Amino acid sequence: MSQTAKAANDTAEITLPTKGLSGQLIDGAWVEPAAGATLDVINPCRRSTITTIGAAGKQDVDAAVAAARAAFPSWRRMASRSRGALLTQLADRIAAHCEEIARVLAAETGNALRTQSRPEVMSAIEVLRYYGGTVAEQKGETLPLGPGLFSYTTREPLGVVAAIIPWNSPLVLAAVKIGMALGTGNTLVLKPAEDAPLAVIRIAELAADLFPKGVFNLVTGVGEVAGAALSAHPDVAKISFTGSVEVGKLVAHAAADRIARATLELGGKSPVIVYPDAATDGRIEGLAANIIAAMRFARQGQSCTAGSRLYIHKDVFEPVLKSVTARLAGMKIGDALDEETDIGAIINEERYSAVQAFLREAVDAGAEVVIGEVPPAAGENAGFFPKPTILKGLANDWRIVREEVFGPVLVAIPWTDEEEVIAWANDTHYGLAAYIFSHDVTTALNAAGRIDAGWLQINRAGGQIPGMSYGGIKQSGIGSEYSIEGALEAYTARKSVTVNL
Ligand code: NAD
Repeated sequence: MSQTAKAANDTAEITLPTKGLSGQLIDGAWVEPAAGATLDVINPCRRSTITTIGAAGKQDVDAAVAAARAAFPSWRRMASRSRGALLTQLADRIAAHCEEIARVLAAETGNALRTQSRPEVMSAIEVLRYYGGTVAEQKGETLPLGPGLFSYTTREPLGVVAAIIPWNSPLVLAAVKIGMALGTGNTLVLKPAEDAPLAVIRIAELAADLFPKGVFNLVTGVGEVAGAALSAHPDVAKISFTGSVEVGKLVAHAAADRIARATLELGGKSPVIVYPDAATDGRIEGLAANIIAAMRFARQGQSCTAGSRLYIHKDVFEPVLKSVTARLAGMKIGDALDEETDIGAIINEERYSAVQAFLREAVDAGAEVVIGEVPPAAGENAGFFPKPTILKGLANDWRIVREEVFGPVLVAIPWTDEEEVIAWANDTHYGLAAYIFSHDVTTALNAAGRIDAGWLQINRAGGQIPGMSYGGIKQSGIGSEYSIEGALEAYTARKSVTVNL
């Protein structure tokens, strides 16, 4: 399919991939989907079609897996430091096209260029450089057993890895999967989400002639078709999935059917606990900024790690909420490509309606709107623009407090008793992230020890850090990413060799 498949006004402001709009990078070449299926990529801020790309069917998935399988034997034999050097080169190529990629990413995700999409490209570069520099640490152990007798272990790659990623931060998630899978000596078939495949296609274009043929393959397409075919493929040795709990369970079942390994990075409903001391001594403004950042309001709340349940000690509840509300009111909602924009658009109409349904239900049940509009004023939401909303006057067992809304909605609940607030924080089937705000070290560390979450931050609300293990517990997932230890654990198998000299 050519780039001219569908032109839209967006194309004047972004540079589309030139070779990769067929969506299928198989055995080093861009090919059309066998059945000729397509899908439209929409700009959620404008409701316009950016372009049309190819959509893989089972035949295309089979071809991609076959190419990855054929490339595996020689790729696994390459020295790990040489594989790392290629990851670093990919990072350099992305860095050379940083702005172009950030603009495509902003257009397709609705994530504002300045606050989200540019930083995401930088994170993707950082992640690839991290793995590029660390994959040579694929060390084993030696066990002396007596004179002339010893065992040693090696870390062996698994084979073909299928990586399936969502739309909310596609570039950095692609970088994580590429770094972990290829760095450890596996070959890869990567499937981006149907809503945001373009920036990932651009990365694949940059990678196409860098890696040996068949080492890095891409298939774009619908989850129920291409994603399901990949998950169930008998020659896929490991699935690395990031997405919803619902689909994660399907992927886990498909992997279990053939005893394939699966890493699952799933949803979250992360608590933010504010102790009274965090809002004293002139700290309230910094605290409010951190709460906005934890909530990922600048990504329309569409983040698995969004701190979406705000538990504030009752003594400081109103002043903290007032400060958060004032900051939120000052953030500009608008087109993701506009440099002034702080908050862009929700990814699609279905997600937009789902967020509204959560809000309506809570307000009908008596929740008080601190900031936001429920329902949105008529005509104001012609795009999928959200009104960032904070609700109070609700209880911990309401659906909006327990389930992942994946939109710019923060529920605020006052607390008095520490035992109770920690029980509330843990009263969910999720266990991804948590945020604790207290400058009393003992209080903060004790709370961190008692909260069920894979990643906790104390007096901070930033993103993942390369080198730090990141992953969920409970239904938020299995396995950890971002660190070399996580990569070795999840993408390699230990082999023991016993030697009698
Ligand atoms: P999703 O589960 O709907 O889709 C994720 C990916 O799975 C997409 O590529 C999709 O095409 C594919 N897919 C859909 N149906 C499939 C099937 N039957 N078999 C195989 N693949 C299939 O998720 P989403 O809506 O794209 O993303 C939002 C979710 O992702 C949220 O729940 C969010 O919390 C989660 N997420 C988690 C992390 C994390 O690190 N834990 C990071 C980002 C997003």
